[in-house]
Amino acid sequence: MSVGPLDDETVEKYRRAGEALRTVLDEAAAMIEPGVTHLEVAEHAEERIYELADGPAFPVNISIDEEASHSTPSRDDDTEFDDGMVCLDIGVHVDGYIADAATTVDLSGTPELVEAAEEALDVAVDAVGPGVDTGTIGGEIEDVIRGYGYTPVLNLSGHGVEQWDAHTGPNVPNRGVDRGHELEVGDVIAVEPFATDGRGKVGEGSKEEIYGLERERSVRNRQARQVLEQVTEEYRTLPFAARWLGVSRAEMALRRLKQNDVVHGYPVLKEADGRLVSQAEHTLIVTENGCEVTTA
Ligand code: MN
Ligand code: MN
Repeated sequence: MSVGPLDDETVEKYRRAGEALRTVLDEAAAMIEPGVTHLEVAEHAEERIYELADGPAFPVNISIDEEASHSTPSRDDDTEFDDGMVCLDIGVHVDGYIADAATTVDLSGTPELVEAAEEALDVAVDAVGPGVDTGTIGGEIEDVIRGYGYTPVLNLSGHGVEQWDAHTGPNVPNRGVDRGHELEVGDVIAVEPFATDGRGKVGEGSKEEIYGLERERSVRNRQARQVLEQVTEEYRTLPFAARWLGVSRAEMALRRLKQNDVVHGYPVLKEADGRLVSQAEHTLIVTENGCEVTTA
């Protein structure tokens, strides 16, 4: 069934991406326990995504404790899960149509922080509908999280998704704002409350394992050219991981591409006080009656 400006086929692709993501997210979350490596979980999830859908919409994000986003294992990463707060954020696409969802696995003994993000997401999903302002949704998210005695991460927000674009407008804030964007039937958005026991602001760390194409232009270096070929053919405008690149000395090729403004990095985002961060996320389509959560 078509939804507003989205035709049947498009809606069906969003649904298939969401269903695949639900399966993969549950499987990957169930693997997380002390002694298992981040890389095992990321690689399992990404393999399953290729079995169930067309590919990842971005590398599997595994963010520990104060990390909020953009953390993915490197090629030879042997980091194991320990006693941390683990945010698991996964994206799937079918013909470029994206599902984006996250869950938090608490190995730290702070379950209320996870509940705060999850309840905020539930309340936000209930509030979504045509004519609703994203600023109002942000206010609902903020109220729930503050009710738990925590702070929403104020400078991270939900977002729209479009074909081959994992991060576009409208912005869906995690705080009340006076004027956001009035949602319309057919908008596809990811809502993602983050809760923290810190001040609620993230900044860029030094680690960088995720990259995205900035603009296509010819490069002379052979390895850099091979990387660019793989990216434009397989990932297009979707973010990719350094460890996905098939060429030897991929890291050096990436540095060259960055210097030439062909790709840009996504540094890991960390809570400024170095405290714990939890996250919950769903992708949904705004419908006449409210919304359809594709990742439920
Ligand atoms: Mn996400
Ligand atoms: Mn998202």
